[in-house]
Amino acid sequence: MSNAFDFPGGIYPPERKQRSNQSALIETPLPRRVTLPLQQHSGQPAKPCVAQGNAVKVGSVIAKREGMVSSALHASISGTVSEVSTTQISIEGDGQDEWLRLPPLVWQNVEPHALLERLNESGIVGLGGAGFPTHIKARVVEQHTIHTLVINAAECEPYITADDLTLRHYANEVLEGAQIIAKLCGAQHIVIGIEDNKPEAIDALKQALTNSQPVPVELAVIATRYPSGGERQLIKKLLDLNVPSGGLPADVGVLCHNPGTLLAILHAVRDGQPLVSRVVTLTGEAITQPGNRWVRLGTSVRELLEQAGLNTPELHQVIQGGPMMGTPLLTLDTPVTKLTNCLIAATLEELPPPPAESPCIRCGECESVCPVALLPQQLHWYARAQDDAKLERYHLFDCIECGACSYVCPSHIPLVVDYREAKSRLRLQRIETAKAEHAKHRFEFRQARLAREEAEKQARKQARQAQQRRPSNTAATNSEKVDLRGLRIAHAAAKASVKKAEKTLARVAQEDPKQSLDDLEMQLATAQENLKAAELQLAQAREQQSNEESP
Ligand code: SF4
Ligand code: SF4
Repeated sequence: MSNAFDFPGGIYPPERKQRSNQSALIETPLPRRVTLPLQQHSGQPAKPCVAQGNAVKVGSVIAKREGMVSSALHASISGTVSEVSTTQISIEGDGQDEWLRLPPLVWQNVEPHALLERLNESGIVGLGGAGFPTHIKARVVEQHTIHTLVINAAECEPYITADDLTLRHYANEVLEGAQIIAKLCGAQHIVIGIEDNKPEAIDALKQALTNSQPVPVELAVIATRYPSGGERQLIKKLLDLNVPSGGLPADVGVLCHNPGTLLAILHAVRDGQPLVSRVVTLTGEAITQPGNRWVRLGTSVRELLEQAGLNTPELHQVIQGGPMMGTPLLTLDTPVTKLTNCLIAATLEELPPPPAESPCIRCGECESVCPVALLPQQLHWYARAQDDAKLERYHLFDCIECGACSYVCPSHIPLVVDYREAKSRLRLQRIETAKAEHAKHRFEFRQARLAREEAEKQARKQARQAQQRRPSNTAATNSEKVDLRGLRIAHAAAKASVKKAEKTLARVAQEDPKQSLDDLEMQLATAQENLKAAELQLAQAREQQSNEESP
């Protein structure tokens, strides 16, 4: 496929991928102990369902999905639960590695709802980014028609090679995982977008593509440029489609998944294996044995880096993720989670702290590299001035925090830091607004319910009086009958409210994974409660009517 389309801007930072892509993907030794945070996905934290002292196998559910946007958590080693707190669960291993798997499914023969349920119960989340629960993403077809599934194998950020090695070793399996998702979302077309700096993975994919695939797959090799792996940038590059501002790829009929997620999907469906491990790139000048490893979730970063030959005196900082978008770890006693794709153990010379910031010289360099065609300079002024109206008008939330603007800024202004702070402040404001709207909604619903109950009470009273006045046991007139029509309308409205709340929640969670969803989850729970009440009232009214009509 030619690169006929393009996105604006972009940069060419040193790739430094060679350090970790020269050795085969291997398994790390089984950890003696794991610590599993309850929040390792976007949305609500999982809710523990085990207690201290419980015996668990690999794959035992230890925390359940809580709310709509959330994900289950499974034991990643066999042993005994040693700690359950409000934030994490720890397990002491028994060294046996005993597994508890779900029954295998032949995905070609099972209904979509069974596949969705399998993704849900296996705790699968997006392994390339924010950890969005895959079972919710797959339900996108309830609101959108999807024509294309994009396999995002660009892996454009320096240092990271986890997808590259995953594809070299598991190209067939990744493509089969893609077929499962294509079946679920109804995509007629699959496109793999991969940068041209991964020749071995490209060869492996070419080999795998010779096998017959139910949904046709196209391999698109694109030029290496950061950040071509951004969803919007890749969709533009591959399909010449523009995801609208504030929108999702589904708005233009596209769904994106990364290779690691597709492999996890296949393991969950075909092998009944929940998400208990992932591929992590271990790299940086402060370790002597860089490479990619299969790592059990919950393994300590310190243990992992020590196994890779950590040179502690040389270590300056460990970054989780890549150097452009990753975050420095405050402590090595941090566990690997579903979101840990790379750990860079960097020396001071390798990733030195940025020079002191100086004033903006209005050179326009930042604007020329922005892949979203934003105005980073203006966003910087408005962020520092806390001019929220202007930040919204200049589309702050379209910023993908790629760091290209900070990278080229000759004044060394930490532009992305400014944007992140401004986004956090605006998110808080949005939560306050949502809370106020929620309170108003609940008040209005309560008033409507009280009015309806009063009207029903009056109707029953009048019916009783009319019954007493009747000379014989005549059936009630139409006007005396329970208001079935009104209840049906109320029931339909409550059902629509649930659908609307689900849709809003899924959209907000995907648009802005860092937005707190507490209030939206509460709105959904309220809408579900209202629906249950409406169902009960309707059922009671139907029963009452049938009693009245029976001789
Ligand atoms: S690159 Fe830096 S100095 Fe140049 S306009 Fe942008 S913010 Fe100002
Ligand atoms: S961090 Fe945001 S503003 Fe800066 S280049 Fe990337 S998308 Fe543009």
